[in-house]
Amino acid sequence: VKALFISAAVIAGLLSGCSSVTETTSKKDTSKPKNIIYLIGDGMGMAHISGYRHYKNSSDKHIGLGDKAVPKTLFDEYFVGIASTLPDDETLVTDSAAGATALSSGVKTYNGAIALDNDKKPTLTLLQEAKSLGKTTATISTSQVTHATPASFLVHNESRRNEDQIADSIYDHRVDGQFVADLMFGGGTKFFIRDDRNLVAKFKDSGFQYVDDLSALNKVTQLPALGLFAPKGLPYAVDHKELPNRLTAMTKAALPLLNKNNENGFVAMIEGSQIDWCSHGNDIACAMNEMADFEQTLKVVTDFARQDGNTLVVVTADHSTGGLTLGANSEYKWLPDVVHKVHASAESMIKQMLEKKEVASIWNQNIEFKLEAEQQNKLEKLLAKNDPEAMYKTLVKIISDRSFTGWTTTGHTGEDVAVIAYGVGAEQFKGFQDNTDIAKKLFGLLK
Ligand SMILES: [Zn+2]
Repeated sequence: VKALFISAAVIAGLLSGCSSVTETTSKKDTSKPKNIIYLIGDGMGMAHISGYRHYKNSSDKHIGLGDKAVPKTLFDEYFVGIASTLPDDETLVTDSAAGATALSSGVKTYNGAIALDNDKKPTLTLLQEAKSLGKTTATISTSQVTHATPASFLVHNESRRNEDQIADSIYDHRVDGQFVADLMFGGGTKFFIRDDRNLVAKFKDSGFQYVDDLSALNKVTQLPALGLFAPKGLPYAVDHKELPNRLTAMTKAALPLLNKNNENGFVAMIEGSQIDWCSHGNDIACAMNEMADFEQTLKVVTDFARQDGNTLVVVTADHSTGGLTLGANSEYKWLPDVVHKVHASAESMIKQMLEKKEVASIWNQNIEFKLEAEQQNKLEKLLAKNDPEAMYKTLVKIISDRSFTGWTTTGHTGEDVAVIAYGVGAEQFKGFQDNTDIAKKLFGLLK
């Protein structure tokens, strides 16, 4: 179709002189994308991005590289700038709700706010604006749909904790009589199917196709569509043996549906939600597996944008989590090979140890380096005392110490995050900016 259009324009130019060709093309605003795909790596700090580069290219491959650089990841390939993430209070460290509101609405607010400003007035979100402009809209996340980031694009609530209310609003809140999103993929049956209200039934009555099994993603054939694949968040990538790249799979299934039957295009928010969750748990293997799924998702959307030629892809994070460092305990090294030897989340290993009342066998099933006698002894003592929290801390510390991974906190941190952009309008995101500027620029590109 494109080739036909070009040759027609060329012929028109040949017939009536070059000036008319210039005139026809200049009328189209080629600086604004038809589609916007907004990727948010929750908790994805700079250390996560550089750590993932080394993890992907595993450290022993670095030896003998000489003056050749370590191969780039897609995050490196499309890196354009950085963003500050502070909320609207004196803390300098944001939570995911204030961070997501900044990214969805361009408004700084208090921690906990879902698309409300400091006076608790609703903020217009990018998805709401896109819907009123007649675009197709979507959220895709590995968290439940009611979680802070997707919620801050869909609805308004004074607290991220009110997840039942947020689910209600996702059904009840309309823009010009329409649902805010035409497609929602993530977790959250616990909040959508309740004793007091069955929102899944309501969505179905309203014409939504519904799936609750990732293996049935291809059964979604048209919009609107709702996919809820877990009671709350989806399982961690590192624990999801059949489909570790589940964000990639949801995105792959969604793109052709979003790109159909709407000349106004689409806006999609896609969140790698659990980079944050793994980092809260100071679990490096868990975090790196989430980064792998997130990079594959970025590959799917940049491939789409390249083919489409009229799409903008923007990637950023709401904040960094865990105070991750590559190198710890005054040692000058980080060993991603050790991270590769861990094949389950610490959370799931502790759960298995508690169930089986066994430490060593669970360790050996999931981790390819030996548990030392002293460490085993400590974990067994804690198991006998039935102290899963102390067991968890001990287990992640063994992995962190062995790989020289540092963590300064189990919470968020306030340093700047990466801004990555590709496609039509990407140059606008160069250099330093505040997180609210990203949303403001996207609003500018929407209209
Ligand atoms: Zn967050």
